[in-house]
Amino acid sequence: MTQLGSNTDQHLATISEKSAHNYAPLPVVIATGEGCWVTDVDGKKYLDILSAYSAVNFGHQNPVIAEAFINQVRTLTLTSRAFNNDQFGPFCDLITSIFGYDMVLPMNTGAEAVETALKTARKWGYDVKGIAPNQAEIICCTGNFHGRTITVISFSDDPCNKPFGPMTPGFKIVQYGDPDALEKAITPNTVGFLVEPIQGEGGIIIPPDGYLTKVREICTKHNILMMADEIQSGLGRTGKLLACDHENVKPDVLILGKALGGGVMPVSAVLANKEIMGVFNPGDHGSTFGGNPLACAVAQTALNLLVDDKLPERALEVGTPFIEKLKTIKSPLVKEVRGRGLLIGIELVPEAGGAKQFCKKLMNEGILCKESHDHVIRIAPPLVITTEDLDWAFPRIEKVLTEGH
Ligand SMILES: *Cc1c(COP(=O)(O)O)cnc(C)c1O
Repeated sequence: MTQLGSNTDQHLATISEKSAHNYAPLPVVIATGEGCWVTDVDGKKYLDILSAYSAVNFGHQNPVIAEAFINQVRTLTLTSRAFNNDQFGPFCDLITSIFGYDMVLPMNTGAEAVETALKTARKWGYDVKGIAPNQAEIICCTGNFHGRTITVISFSDDPCNKPFGPMTPGFKIVQYGDPDALEKAITPNTVGFLVEPIQGEGGIIIPPDGYLTKVREICTKHNILMMADEIQSGLGRTGKLLACDHENVKPDVLILGKALGGGVMPVSAVLANKEIMGVFNPGDHGSTFGGNPLACAVAQTALNLLVDDKLPERALEVGTPFIEKLKTIKSPLVKEVRGRGLLIGIELVPEAGGAKQFCKKLMNEGILCKESHDHVIRIAPPLVITTEDLDWAFPRIEKVLTEGH
């Protein structure tokens, strides 16, 4: 192997040759992280304002989470659900009491939790609602992102999912943000409506005010389950514990993931009340790693930090003025700045040629972020970010968006 080039170049060459090209990452190779800052293999520092799509809400190497993780690693890590472990009960108790549901079903990744919610709705439809076998229908939204499994991509309208058919039947897609479209699509076989309160991957799309309230009313009226995917929008990101809290709406089925794992491991969960979650019997569903003691210890620590450190309030306090500041950027490239708390999108005009090149320019300025959809620069830093860090970032973002214009 050649010894020429930077450490970064050597890593990039290996990664490009030896790993599947299912991602097109920015050409940075991170070696260490602390708080909102990361350092690459050549010693260059960057401000991380993506936070692994909200999975690193507590910051890199959060000392409280790291300690809980290390203690549990040295105690007990995995038993499978063939046995119980002493972290599982306390985890179930904490998460159900924080979010106000009777029961929880723990999984690992977000997509698994979404699959779990879909299974919950179908079984509820057959056992409780009395729908004929194999007839259950679930309604989803345009522009949705709920993960990458075959069933989950079966109700995606993103063209990238086309080459993976045949798709799982039983799903309908209606316009996001339009409650009438939802109501029109409901049939006697409908069991549930799956919705992101704010679409993250879809381009930081905030539905019209009152949308979630109307969705809640329609779901109740037609006796179908409102299932909220809060994997990205939940756990403080938008300035409330859940994005649904902005309208005081309580979904029947709540899906959590990403930040629940404290940035150290995949932990996801589905919450619902007994009439709904009670449909599961032994053998119906499971996961070797779901509910493992390490995950439960980390998730309890993450949830306690979220509440004790008032991170939702923080997200609102530092996020709201930052959104206002971003709106002052005068550039013909910017179509709209929108956001809630620390989930922020800068939508560029199509003539700007796509958000990705601007993320590359930001990288050269020492800021790491990622486009969401083609034309939106997503800003979603760890919730522990300080106003000083954001003040450092602002002129750099402004420069990249105004340079040459
Ligand atoms: C990231 C995400 C998922 C999928 O989570 P994975 O852990 O990547 O499987 C599902 N729904 C939403 C809204 C997400 O942002």
